[in-house]
Amino acid sequence: MNIPNSHPRYKSLKTREKIVNSYKDGYVAAEGLIAHGRGEAFDYLLGETMDIYSADAIRAAACLMLNAKYPVISVNGNAASLVPDEIIELSKIVNAKIEINLFYRTEQRELSIYNTLIEHGANEILGIDKRNSTKLPEPDSDRRIVDKNGIFISDVVLIPLEDGDRTESLIKMGKKVIAIDLNPLSRTSMIADITIVNNIIRVMPELIKESKYFRDNNKKCNSILNDFDNKKNVAGSIETIKDNLLKKYNELYR
Ligand code: ATP
Ligand code: MG
Repeated sequence: MNIPNSHPRYKSLKTREKIVNSYKDGYVAAEGLIAHGRGEAFDYLLGETMDIYSADAIRAAACLMLNAKYPVISVNGNAASLVPDEIIELSKIVNAKIEINLFYRTEQRELSIYNTLIEHGANEILGIDKRNSTKLPEPDSDRRIVDKNGIFISDVVLIPLEDGDRTESLIKMGKKVIAIDLNPLSRTSMIADITIVNNIIRVMPELIKESKYFRDNNKKCNSILNDFDNKKNVAGSIETIKDNLLKKYNELYR
């Protein structure tokens, strides 16, 4: 479909086109399209911009990844579709492993994501070689498969667009979890150590920028991490939504 760039929802429609094409290419799950729709709805409510709360969370996330001993970026179909280059760039800056880890796991999708990331210039991708897979110590086995050389031994995991159960099992294992999730009400958002409540498309370039900055100014990270309070920050995002709704309400009904 040809979308004119004068269209008021041009960006959002282009993103949809991207994710639908990745679905057709076989690496975004049908459920991933629905998850994207839920994300879009929250993005609308958040005003489709970067607010102070997501900016603070991004700074803390950059610091946590830079200070980690063994950070891992977990990648699913949606993330590989929307921000493949940024995932690879970030992994280089913070020295993180990239692991393909799918909720709706099929070998065909894993391979397809693997090929996409390699095409975009990744060198090493974990989560593909089944000889290295192991399970997190939780029930519901298939959903807990991780790479022995990746998430299993990591101390910090970045999880874009992740399900609540899986986030919980990572936290129970003692991992520090950074989530990117547009829904401030999701279980993932509530329980992660750092939740960036914003669109992964907006988040990744900022996360790269801040990671570069704090790599060279690492001393500032201690106070940033000490001062960061995730519950307060997620509550701030909910307040952003509340303010936006109130503004609209007042425009219509005052
Ligand atoms: P939970 O299991 O944590 O309670 P959920 O079941 O509502 O959450 P899932 O489908 O498990 O949601 O996880 C996908 C999450 O990803 C959703 O909360 C959705 O808002 C979010 N999401 C979708 N697209 C994006 C995007 N582009 N950027 C950031 N977050 C997104
Ligand atoms: Mg879920």
